[in-house]
Amino acid sequence: MSSDCIFCKIVAGEIPSETLFETDTVQVIRDINPHAPVHFLVIPKKHIATIDDLDENCDRDLIADMMFAGQETARRLGTHMDGYKLLFNVQSGGGQMVFHIHLHVLGGWQGEKPTVSFK
Ligand code: AMP
Ligand code: ZN
Repeated sequence: MSSDCIFCKIVAGEIPSETLFETDTVQVIRDINPHAPVHFLVIPKKHIATIDDLDENCDRDLIADMMFAGQETARRLGTHMDGYKLLFNVQSGGGQMVFHIHLHVLGGWQGEKPTVSFK
């Protein structure tokens, strides 16, 4: 846990969130400022600042857990029917604003052009 990290505070229950799915290792929350009709975030419970900080030896299972939680939540919401995007913003130059890794899951366009606008 990093004491000044908003996603650590969400995982600790100190900041409210709309939790869609949870396992021992990850929490899936609705994005507060959606960039698509359906937009949720898969957040590991362990604090890791950026994708560049992943440990090749320790974090393999965690990354798999994130992907499967994204897949499962998309299924539960029905988002998988129309397809969706999976996205990591890496470092501020890559558009990362919150420095606790998170997998964006974006979908729900229902046949419209699947447009995503990140700064
Ligand atoms: P990134 O730019 O990849 O770091 O994305 C951070 C994402 O976190 C943005 O899409 C924000 O809308 C989202 N976000 C920030 N604070 C919260 C929060 N308290 N609850 C849910 N989503 C949040
Ligand atoms: Zn954190």
